[in-house]
Amino acid sequence: PRGKVLLQAEEVRRTMERLAYEVIERHGEGAPLALIGIQRRGVELAKRLKSVLESRFGSEIPLGSLDINLYRDDWTNMDSQPQIHRTQIPFNVDDREIILVDDVLFTGRTIRAALEAILDYGRPKRVELLVLVDRGHRELPIHADYVGKKVNTSQHEKVDVFVREQDGEDVVVLNEQ
Ligand code: 5GP
Ligand code: MG
Repeated sequence: PRGKVLLQAEEVRRTMERLAYEVIERHGEGAPLALIGIQRRGVELAKRLKSVLESRFGSEIPLGSLDINLYRDDWTNMDSQPQIHRTQIPFNVDDREIILVDDVLFTGRTIRAALEAILDYGRPKRVELLVLVDRGHRELPIHADYVGKKVNTSQHEKVDVFVREQDGEDVVVLNEQ
């Protein structure tokens, strides 16, 4: 992967571990937690959290996924339309404490669409957001409760997230669009 390295493999590993411990600190044992990853890399990150949380709590944490794409002419378009392709939520969301997981948070439009999709399924007790990278430029009042790394980006930059499950290695790099 080319570009300016923001997180190396070991930093990605430590960051995900820290985020898992932040979740544990806020929720404590016995909380009705569930994870929902946003395809594709959010799902891989959610699987890693799941294994840390499960080994800590000693109980199963259900995992779902949402496949949402944003159609925008360019990445700065206010009118980008979220399209939900597939929703897999194999648990009852009622009264759950749900943690949405994504790799990068940008305008907030994907998360807004994700919330709408989840609320179609029922009434969670609470929904929180965990992201590996917050690159700024929000266009909606959406924030992440757990942030791996805040990165100041310009509109014409992008953050490339590589995960070992899909890309063979863990690394986060900053590139021109
Ligand atoms: P938003 O909806 O917040 O504008 O964008 C978030 C979604 O678009 C995320 O699911 C993410 O996959 C993708 N995205 C937006 N900007 C970036 C970026 O710089 N890098 C990566 N890897 N994904 C991005
Ligand atoms: Mg994503």
